[in-house]
Formats: sequence, C-alpha cells, structure tokens
Amino acid sequence: MTPFNQQVEGTLLGVAAVKTSSVAGAQPFPFLDLKAQFAGLRPEIIAAVIGVLENQHFILGPEVEALERDFADLMGCHHALGCASGSDALLLALMALGVGPGDEVITTPFTFVATAGSIARLGARPVFVDIEPQTYNIDPFRLEEAITPRTRGIIPVHLFGLPANMEPILNIAKTHGLFVVEDAAQSICARYQGRMVGGLGTIGCFSFFPSKNLGAAGDGGMVTTNDPRLAESMKTLRVHGSRKKYQCDLVGTNSRLDALQAAILRVKLPHLAEWTAARQRNADGYWSLFRDYQISESLGLPSVPAGCEHVYNQFVIRTHRRDQLRDHLRRIGIPTEIYYPSPLHLQPAFADLGYKSGDLVEAELACQQVLALPIYPELGEERVAAVVRGIAGFFATTD
Ligand SMILES: *Cc1c(COP(=O)(O)O)cnc(C)c1O
Repeated sequence: MTPFNQQVEGTLLGVAAVKTSSVAGAQPFPFLDLKAQFAGLRPEIIAAVIGVLENQHFILGPEVEALERDFADLMGCHHALGCASGSDALLLALMALGVGPGDEVITTPFTFVATAGSIARLGARPVFVDIEPQTYNIDPFRLEEAITPRTRGIIPVHLFGLPANMEPILNIAKTHGLFVVEDAAQSICARYQGRMVGGLGTIGCFSFFPSKNLGAAGDGGMVTTNDPRLAESMKTLRVHGSRKKYQCDLVGTNSRLDALQAAILRVKLPHLAEWTAARQRNADGYWSLFRDYQISESLGLPSVPAGCEHVYNQFVIRTHRRDQLRDHLRRIGIPTEIYYPSPLHLQPAFADLGYKSGDLVEAELACQQVLALPIYPELGEERVAAVVRGIAGFFATTD
C-alpha cells in the first residue's frame, strides 16, 4: 500500500493552492458506510442467517455460546456473556454488583447517555467527574474529591476507541474498595499497557450497535469478567433472574443476545483485527496529511498517551471554530458528526442531580469544539485526503 504522504505529495503544491472546488467534484461519501462492509461478507452472512433460520433456535443457544467462547478467548478473560445491547451490559453489570438507591457511582459527563443512564435506572446517583481535555476520558486526578461514603464504584468510558487512564483509576478504586465497570462500547480490542480494555476492571461492557467497531445487524452487547460469582449473577439476571425454569431467584430482566445476531457476529469477529488496522491506517493518514498541510497546529488532534492503543471508533478533532468548519465541510460534501453536542450533567434527564453550566468546564468546552471525521475501515486514502483538503481549504481562506 502506498504511504499516505507519498500519495499526497503530488497534490501538495502549497496550502495557498488548496481550493474547496478540489473536493466538490469528488464522489460524495457517507460518514459511515455499513454497506461496504456487508458487500465483502455477503455470502457468509447470508449463510449464517439461513443456518439459524433452519435450526430455529433463536434465543441464546449454541451460536451465542460459541460467540461467548470466542469473545472470552479474544479478551483473555474467563467469562463473556451476550446480552441485548451495550446499555443492558452496563445495567446487568451494575445489577450484579448490587447497585441501588442510596448508592453513588462516578462516571464521565462526556459520553453516550447510556453510561449514566444505567446508574440512574437502578435508582442510584451518577456523580460526574470532569475529563482530561487531551484524551476526552475521565480525569483520574479529580476522582478522589468525588468519593463519598456512598460511592460504590467508577465507570470509566474508553471514549472514541482510546483507553482511559486505568492505572490511577484502578489504584484509587482499590484504596477505597470500589468496583470498576469499564464502558468499552467504543473500544473493543484497544489496549492499555498491553492488555485489552474491558478486562482491566471488575466487569467489562461492550456494544454491538451497528456503528461500533464490531457491529451486529441490530442491537447486541456483551459483558466480560474474571469473577465467577458475578458471571453467574449476570447469567441469571439476563433470563429474568431464573436459574431453573419457572423459579425466580433474583429480580432480573429479559436481556439476551439473539442467535441471529451471534451468528452474524461470528462471521465478523475474525475480521475485527483487519478492520481495526484499517481504521488506524486512516488515522495515520489524517495525522500525516494534517502535518503536510501544516494545519496540525490549528486543530486539536486525537492524543494517544504512551502505553495506549487507539482503535478509532471515532477520529475526533477540535477547534474553537467547529461550527463554521462543519458548515464549510457540509457545503463541499464532506460528512462529519458531533459526539457529543451536550454533556450529560446538563441533559434534562439529569436535571434533578442539580448540576449547572460551568460545573464541568472541560466536558462543556469539548462539546462546543469537537468534530468527528469519517474513519470507517473502507474509507481509504483518497477520501481521507479529500477530508483534509476540505479542512485545509477552510483554514486557508479564513485564517
Ligand atoms: C454505544 C454506547 C453504549 C450503549 O450501547 P448500545 O448497544 O447502543 O445500547 C454505551 N456506552 C457508550 C460509550 C457507547 O458508545
């Protein structure tokens, strides 16, 4: 494969020559192209679906068990259990840990709503701790001041594909006797100090929502743990708290992974490593082109601390002129997204927690400045170059 910088050398005739029209003529492309992935796996996926339809075993069963074994092997953990979604993975984890009214659980305000929703759903109180501005992950050095006698645990989120700073988080949790539930929904196979995220804390939670790095054909999730007692609880809780048919041992829920989803995920799982590598290659392309165009300084690029591997579920840049940049890119056909436009502590659903604007300034600022660029595996270097040309055009004409 041609390295990005070589490929682009020819087009790089000085930033002044960059015109938006160079992008406008290109084929439009989506922010995320799930059809491209399906096209490559079509016969295998269709065969997997037909296999399930033929044996008519739809709920849990052998496909789900096989996926759970493969997943546990991949993660290097003892137990992996399929469930209905990433949101339910968080809910099952907290239920198994006995979280309920009167408890506090610390998490980040800069994440998808399900992270804090799982805490509130169980009648416990989400306590938000601000993020590190460079990584967008929870700031471990602000954790201790948030701990009270009611604190039960911490939910760090490995946001956008980058591991949270787990060593201090785990140390603080140990000192205070707290659990650590990792929200690894966006970070499957990301490594922290050589170890996969999701296996560092008490329980790991994963999502197979279609836009995640390993996506199902609908909703799906997985919990992982090395604790046999917690595994047993979660296995019981996902089937109405029943260990034996029509005997209810715990108040559980219905949260199972469908065999159809498991069969499709088993086709996709062996490709995850190559898809992750393709995301990382696209990210390298962005990095080197931003450098070539000398706009790295105008933008906050993703930060990857030593010892962390980023799997780029999102490639997020930041600029104080985010909205103008986004409008400019939209006009020339470059798709972008904003994750997230509003921090959780200012969402109406959490109004009763009493937070106000200005309480968590880093998260609030990030919400105003971040912009996610397309990064899906099939994107390819030409589109990466088109995105960068579009951004360079914005800074060339407005600086
Ligand atoms: C997607 C996501 C979830 C929820 O997963 P679903 O499968 O959509 O329920 C939870 N946390 C984070 C950080 C996510 O990105």
